Amino acid sequence: MSTLTKQLTKVLSQIEQAAAAANRDKHEINLLAVSKTKPAEQIKLAYAAGQRRFGENYVQEGIEKIQALRQDADITQPIEWHFIGPLQSNKSKLVAEHFDWVQSIDRLKIAQRLSNQRPAELGPLNICLQVNISGEASKSGTTLSQVIELASQVSELPQLKLRGIMAIPAPTDDVNALNNSFAQLHRLYLQLQQNYPDIDTLSMGMSGDMSVAIANGSTMVRVGTAIFGARNYQN
Ligand SMILES: *Cc1c(COP(=O)(O)O)cnc(C)c1O
Repeated sequence: MSTLTKQLTKVLSQIEQAAAAANRDKHEINLLAVSKTKPAEQIKLAYAAGQRRFGENYVQEGIEKIQALRQDADITQPIEWHFIGPLQSNKSKLVAEHFDWVQSIDRLKIAQRLSNQRPAELGPLNICLQVNISGEASKSGTTLSQVIELASQVSELPQLKLRGIMAIPAPTDDVNALNNSFAQLHRLYLQLQQNYPDIDTLSMGMSGDMSVAIANGSTMVRVGTAIFGARNYQN
């Protein structure tokens, strides 16, 4: 078994344990394997081990891998591609044409562009609104006070399907603070579900905090390092 396969298996069993500890069904929690900076070969290894959801942060890099794997004869089942990085307007068309999900929507303008640019034959693009839970000026995401209005605007766009919210709380060793942030996101998620019954995705939790996120109701953990190893941005 490759190192990557072992690490993926370990992450899946951690998800299972965290779900059991929270009295949740493990099937309620989807694993998004975050493959940014990693080569298509490593995605193929994860695919061979059964992984089907992958997240990318950089448009050009992500599309190169999507195209390489679409042409690969070993890839016989569909892969779901999630764009999870900051998105500039001038790149939105490429994202609308190649990805299945965008989790990093924090303003109406980019959502409108994606809806207009989504090819009809692909069906609606799945959307999560990125919420800036820690209130840091440096992190992208819409504020808690703006998210309800953004949700109502995005839900009107014909080629988008609002699926939920995504957040990246500031890294901290303070488990109480982390619990509070995740619990606040969970309340927001339940509140949005009242208005939009199709919302089914609370995307929170990464390599360092996925168990705390699952304890607080996460339905999708986005895990990079724990599966693929540390990233080397020089490559
Ligand atoms: C890179 C990234 C991740 C994965 O982080 P790890 O700590 O490597 O698990 C998750 N979500 C987003 C939005 C990211 O950019």
